[in-house]
Amino acid sequence: MRFICDSTLGKLTKYLRILGLDTVSINNLDTLNQYRQLADPPLLFTKRTKNISYQPAVFIQKNNIHEQTKEIENIIKPYINSKTFMTRCIKCNAPLELVRKEDIEARVPEYIYHHHEEFKLCPSCKKVYWEGTHAEQMKKWTRAASALE
Ligand SMILES: [Zn+2]
Repeated sequence: MRFICDSTLGKLTKYLRILGLDTVSINNLDTLNQYRQLADPPLLFTKRTKNISYQPAVFIQKNNIHEQTKEIENIIKPYINSKTFMTRCIKCNAPLELVRKEDIEARVPEYIYHHHEEFKLCPSCKKVYWEGTHAEQMKKWTRAASALE
């Protein structure tokens, strides 16, 4: 299953990508036309209740990322497992590639280099990921979300 988030759901987009879900981000609703035609159109998450004729679509009611994830929990659960976690670039949704440690040595902090064995690279934006990258992001959001409650 693929997903689309419109521009009202920037944080949710990142969250879904961290979980490894194929999530396209769109800024312009016209972009939906190219997905509408597909035999298996991606599921749209949106906060807009007007001007959306796209199907399938799920309307997100909450503003808080923590509550938003609860809203869609049952929808995304079947597609998540520990193997998909941290397999996509948060920024561009591209599947990450495993890289040899020595190839990225110059691009990560020395401490990180010495304390991690597995590194991944986004083939599109060239961002380097290691175990802590996503985990830290997740923690930050959980903290931010609980602060709003
Ligand atoms: Zn990227």
